[in-house]
Amino acid sequence: MKILVLNCGSSSLKYQLIDMETETVITKGTYERIGMNNSFITVKQDGEKIRIEHPVKNHEKALKFVFEDILMGEEHGKIRSLTEIDAIGHRIVHGGEKFKEAAIVTDEVIENIRDVIPLAPLHNPAAILGIEACRSVVPDMPMVVVFDTAFHQTMPKESYIYPLPYEFYEKYKVRKYGFHGTSHRYVSRRVAELMGKNVEDLKIVSCHLGQGASVCAIKDGKCVNTSMGLTPLGGIGMCARSGDLDPSVVTYLMENLNIGPKDMSDLLNKQSGILGVSGISNDFRDVEAAKDEGNERAILAIDMHNKIVAEYIARYMVSLQGLDVIVFTAGIGENQIRIRKGICENLKFLGVEVDDEKNNSRGEEVEISAPNSKVKVFVVPTDEEIMIARDTMNLIKK
Ligand code: ADP
Repeated sequence: MKILVLNCGSSSLKYQLIDMETETVITKGTYERIGMNNSFITVKQDGEKIRIEHPVKNHEKALKFVFEDILMGEEHGKIRSLTEIDAIGHRIVHGGEKFKEAAIVTDEVIENIRDVIPLAPLHNPAAILGIEACRSVVPDMPMVVVFDTAFHQTMPKESYIYPLPYEFYEKYKVRKYGFHGTSHRYVSRRVAELMGKNVEDLKIVSCHLGQGASVCAIKDGKCVNTSMGLTPLGGIGMCARSGDLDPSVVTYLMENLNIGPKDMSDLLNKQSGILGVSGISNDFRDVEAAKDEGNERAILAIDMHNKIVAEYIARYMVSLQGLDVIVFTAGIGENQIRIRKGICENLKFLGVEVDDEKNNSRGEEVEISAPNSKVKVFVVPTDEEIMIARDTMNLIKK
């Protein structure tokens, strides 16, 4: 069985064609700048990276080009007919409270995704564009939607209700949703496999640290708490996002800078976090390099980041009533050796100990805790696409 996984942004389209017998990626690619006159696609397959300039007006044209000229194309083709693809799995950022798991695409499901556009104004419209493009280009292909928020729907109410007048939850659905759910679900299952245990028997804190970052507490295989909130701005401070603040900071700055919600949102989403504090970059590599040169704000930004992540881990020990294993994943979690070490140093008092030699690795599945560490620590590279493909396969088989 072959599944095509699609992840659509407002001007981009990422795809992976996955062979489900071996769970391997046959080919993958990214269409960028869709709708502009310099659109191009990058295809990665057979250890090669191919860039093709091909301007397209919209997602539908992009998808048509991917199917006809890339996947079935003479030069780079991997399939002979569209019937070789059994289904398409779409990544959707926000499923609101409606979706507790993946769903087969129907008109009603599309309407439900549309209903939560106010909660994900950049992401959900792009996903709908992708679904509609597929409906037009391959109308008979079964499709499934997999939500970033779904895994967090098991949170108990006391974890997701904000201390605000309750009517705002009822009227506007203001609550904590959580994101990166597919990634947290994947790494929690995988770390259990690596430990030779059932995920239901573990108390896990999963740290997805990328441009966007969130921490998730997982008990009995289910999410019981997570750091992102109504939107992916909440929780830990990130590369350029502020994470949680005293809410008065927002109103105070809006008044003092005389700016409206749009500018304030830009400030919090694009100019804050590690970038804001260090004044150097939103890439941890640059900030670490500056730290090595003794730059005080770089040191501050990194120390602050590591402490906040550690504090979240400790905080989630309350939600979990214990802790067996910490898992690091995503760009920073998988690659930044000193960040992992720095976070864990803050947790030394709990008996968390990192083995420096084992921690000296990038992008690999590895246990990095010392043999006598009271809490295990692992790195597990995330694979959201395989989770989407598995969900898609399971649903269409039903
Ligand atoms: P996104 O959330 O956009 O998918 P990533 O998960 O790729 O982001 O994370 C991006 C961050 O990961 C960068 O800021 C960088 O600090 C870090 N990173 C990514 N790749 C590497 C690498 N090979 N070595 C060190 N750091 C990396």
